[in-house]
Amino acid sequence: METRERYREPLRLLKNYLRQQSEYGDSEFFLNMKNKEPSKKDLLSMLYKSIVNCKECGLYRTRKNIVLGEGDSNAPIVLIGEAPGRDEDEQGRPFVGAAGQLLTRILNAIKLRREEVYISNILKCRPPNNRTPQESEINSCMPFLTKQIEIIKPRIIVTLGAIATQTLLSSKEPMYTMRGRIFPYPSKKPVLKVVPTYHPAALLRNPNLKVKTWEDVKLVRKLYDNKEE
Ligand code: SF4
Repeated sequence: METRERYREPLRLLKNYLRQQSEYGDSEFFLNMKNKEPSKKDLLSMLYKSIVNCKECGLYRTRKNIVLGEGDSNAPIVLIGEAPGRDEDEQGRPFVGAAGQLLTRILNAIKLRREEVYISNILKCRPPNNRTPQESEINSCMPFLTKQIEIIKPRIIVTLGAIATQTLLSSKEPMYTMRGRIFPYPSKKPVLKVVPTYHPAALLRNPNLKVKTWEDVKLVRKLYDNKEE
């Protein structure tokens, strides 16, 4: 199916929701917005409200919480993982389990705090037993991530692991050939830079990947500082 066709229905639902909210629903929000443009934080909050009861794929049946993302809505860096796990599903927050704690330490190692970046996932609901996301689930959920990126407008996206990398870059290449390189994010002008690296959960399973990950995040820091070669 054409990408445009796949995303048409979820995007239609999202647009309808925002229109309805402006006409009838979230009057307080819109009264506040009367004389000013909504902030990125406001827009992300509206996006969250629009998908909190999402049933676009079957994962709604087993989720406890939608995990949209968290962090600075003005962040120059967005990190994208695969999907919420058990802890994230319980708390409704991304990367809060063991892999999340490692991600926080990785960010700290390049002198970034979690609060300075924005963290999200390809899927907003946990697949049962953390199984690999299905293509149909990814297709259903991607419009929400696309919208997040449109709102935040980061300079850099760091994809964590194969699912996030291959989905965002529409590629089938394995991680070991994609990691540590800079890719343009498709169809964005000015070009947004995507740097793939390993998922922190993979580092917990295989600590040998830490050396390559360290190289990748140092590259991210250079991009952040505008010092890439
Ligand atoms: S994973 Fe995404 S598309 Fe599926 S139910 Fe959750 S929010 Fe909706």
